[in-house]
Amino acid sequence: MKKNRYLKLSGLEPLIITPESNFINIGERTNVAGSKKFLRLIKEEKFSEALDIARNQVEGGAQILDVNFDDGLLDGKYCMVKFLNLIASEPDIARIPIMIDSSKWEILEAGLQVVQGKCVVNSISLKGGEEEFIKHAKAIKRYGAAAIIMAFDEVGQADTYERRLEICERSYKILTEIVNFPPEDIIFDLNIFPVATGMEEHRKNALDFINATKWVRENLPYVSVSGGVSNVSFSFRGNDTVREAMHSVFLYYAIKNGMNMGIVNPTMLEVYDEIPKDLLELVEDVMLDRRDDATERLLDYSEKHKSVKKEIVENLEWRNQPLQDRITHSLVKGIDRFIEEDVEEARKIATRPLDVIEGNLMTGMGVVGDLFGSGKMFLPQVVKSARVMKKAVAYLQPYIEAEKDSAQKANGKVLMATVKGDVHDIGKNIVSVVLGCNNYEIVDLGVMVPAEKIIETAIKENVDVIGLSGLITPSLDEMVHIAAELERQNLNFPLMIGGATTSKAHTAVKIDPKYKNAVVHVNDASRAVGVVSSLLSNRNGEYVSDLKTDYADFREKFLNRQVDKEYISIEEARNQKFKIDWENEIIPKPKQLGIQIIENQSLEELVPYIDWSPFFRSWDLFGKYPQILKDDVVGEQATELFADAQKMLKKIVDEKLLTAKAIFGIFPANTTEKDDIELKKGDETFVFRTLRQQHKKSEGKEYLALSDFIAPKSSGKQDYMGTFAVTTGFGTDELAQKYEAEHDDYNSIMVKALADRFAEAFAEFLHKKVRTEIWSYSNDENLENDDLISEKYVGIRPAPGYPACPDHLDKLTIWDLLEVKENIGLELTESLAMFPTASVSGYYFANPKAKYFGVGKIAEDQLKDYAERKNIDIEFAKKWLAPNLAD
Ligand code: SAH
Repeated sequence: MKKNRYLKLSGLEPLIITPESNFINIGERTNVAGSKKFLRLIKEEKFSEALDIARNQVEGGAQILDVNFDDGLLDGKYCMVKFLNLIASEPDIARIPIMIDSSKWEILEAGLQVVQGKCVVNSISLKGGEEEFIKHAKAIKRYGAAAIIMAFDEVGQADTYERRLEICERSYKILTEIVNFPPEDIIFDLNIFPVATGMEEHRKNALDFINATKWVRENLPYVSVSGGVSNVSFSFRGNDTVREAMHSVFLYYAIKNGMNMGIVNPTMLEVYDEIPKDLLELVEDVMLDRRDDATERLLDYSEKHKSVKKEIVENLEWRNQPLQDRITHSLVKGIDRFIEEDVEEARKIATRPLDVIEGNLMTGMGVVGDLFGSGKMFLPQVVKSARVMKKAVAYLQPYIEAEKDSAQKANGKVLMATVKGDVHDIGKNIVSVVLGCNNYEIVDLGVMVPAEKIIETAIKENVDVIGLSGLITPSLDEMVHIAAELERQNLNFPLMIGGATTSKAHTAVKIDPKYKNAVVHVNDASRAVGVVSSLLSNRNGEYVSDLKTDYADFREKFLNRQVDKEYISIEEARNQKFKIDWENEIIPKPKQLGIQIIENQSLEELVPYIDWSPFFRSWDLFGKYPQILKDDVVGEQATELFADAQKMLKKIVDEKLLTAKAIFGIFPANTTEKDDIELKKGDETFVFRTLRQQHKKSEGKEYLALSDFIAPKSSGKQDYMGTFAVTTGFGTDELAQKYEAEHDDYNSIMVKALADRFAEAFAEFLHKKVRTEIWSYSNDENLENDDLISEKYVGIRPAPGYPACPDHLDKLTIWDLLEVKENIGLELTESLAMFPTASVSGYYFANPKAKYFGVGKIAEDQLKDYAERKNIDIEFAKKWLAPNLAD
């Protein structure tokens, strides 16, 4: 055996971890699940600013850099490769080793292929069974990397001393004996859980970790032990003094027992020796589980010495404060119980009722705005504040009218609209509420608004700014059209652009040049206020000209950027398709063919299939569920939002407020030479035209199209394909409108966000039913919701508009084939958005080799070929495929 088996990592410089080494600190601000800012920068493709975050981490003393792009809306593989390549050319960052972090193997592997130096893979575990574990460990070994091994197995996450030992020992044995993995390259993550939660079973959480660390270091030679430290003090959120002491004590014992690396926020750490003696004793009692009343005693201490901001719900001391303070308190906390009585009191002493709005209420909202602007308050709270504000204004309205008081003077007027053909409005509504909170008057035209109506209203209402929103690809084109119309009519309303498919790049390259006045991309509710106020205070002055210059520069850089413009011809791509050995392929015949309808699906049955992470994202809270509930920064807010969501969810389920319908079917199908899938419904043939990757890849790599997953006619084998459409949107608008009428935007947005969650859950639920009962090729499948969310099932359900089939036109074929509108009333708008909005449609592919991918950019020859096959005009095809066309 080698003499000094030390964990040796490297960036440009080596990092050798010996028994004498100090604790190794891992930086994790470059993790999209942990840093909202990083996620936003990556989404906006602001990689150079994202690099600054990495640089700050290195300068701040991080010795390893954790990099993670696991987010539903990101192409994780692309981002990982791009970011690692960028890091490689920044010597001050590339100095330190990288930790490639993802729950998806393909992303880890893509990272391994480009990373410089010797990195750490975070993470693999026995969660998916031994076979997968061995396969991944072998690959990591081949790439010469070290690995974090999570204490996780087929049964679940290790949460006791014994389970940690059992899993680590088993993992170690497999790694060293079967894989021949160098033991010094193994880093165990032993799961740090919170203590002092009040739950009996959590009392030993820290102690178990510490003891397991000791055992692992003594019994599994050469390995390291790591973990994320802040979790341990989760139940003392809000009291940093106690938390800092807890982290220090935890680390003191964990390090003494062999923990040699971890994720620690250096600003949340007290020097062990400087912890006041009384506090130290209390914290050690908790960490080491030394007394039965340890938790209560620490809680007592925490109550007495606070920064603790835990508000006891019925603590009404604030009611004794002066009037303005009470009003501000209600607004900041979103409490609507006392607002009418306080406003009434204010009205009685005011000269005019309007003074109450302009004085008392706006003062309170000013505080809300400042807190939000400085990141101390989060979006759901702001929306709740708006609810209180609206209730107060509604109360005052009759008095204002009775006195014929002159209208309240707003800061300005903003028209908001979701453009023609598009129906998505959660983001738009949130921006409206936030602007409303800042005393802007909102003219909300709702969804599917044609250009003429937007312009006509803007003129009639004399608005100061027009805000456009859209979610699907064709909306981008519609926004360009509106800008051109404003220009043609010689108008000068500044344009604000937002919504999921919009970007600074599209705004700068496609919209801005069409209009000589201000055009600005704002995708973040918290930025909208600043932008609108700058536009207003500076209408034709500096701000706008700076904006124009900024967009022109951006456009120029974007158009001249180094892009890889190499494509292979569509013929060549077809010759190098993804190959399945059809001769030897056994194609399972579906148990039930043909169309089926679900008229009224039980909502209750769908609840367990909900993926909650995107729900938090729709409220601008970033992180994975359920960890987000315990997040250092947004945990408290996420927990509150989640509780409100559960209340609404229960109401929707109990009172059956939404109706869930679905239609789906499986049909005989085969492919033709030109990437078409022909599907038989009785005597009728329906054809799906798929698109194929064309962007040049390295030698020997395949160029995928969805048609590769279905047997070609020439194979002589009968294959099958399914399609589906589900909706849970019936009832949403009625319910949302009911809340809006009560001035309750918070619950109106909540209803829409939940309806969207139900639709995705229905898609997940139905797919499972198809796999296990209808097609019945996966009858013995046994997957938890987490596994479903991470797509562990056999087969795929790609959806038109997503990367493998980016053309929304495909929905027309699904609608024809299943007669979706006639059968379940789910419609398509002219831009092919589904209406009601909370809906999902797509295809089913059952082949075990079928996988999700992105078509990426296609070249002119395929565009032409595609338009011909589809029998549509090439310009029309271009409109639908705009984001996929080569530059
Ligand atoms: N659990 C998430 C799922 C949303 S996105 C939620 O509740 O919001 C996942 C869906 O998008 C998949 O089920 C699939 O229908 C579609 N999808 C994902 N990647 C795709 C790709 N590359 N091509 C086509 N469709 C894709």
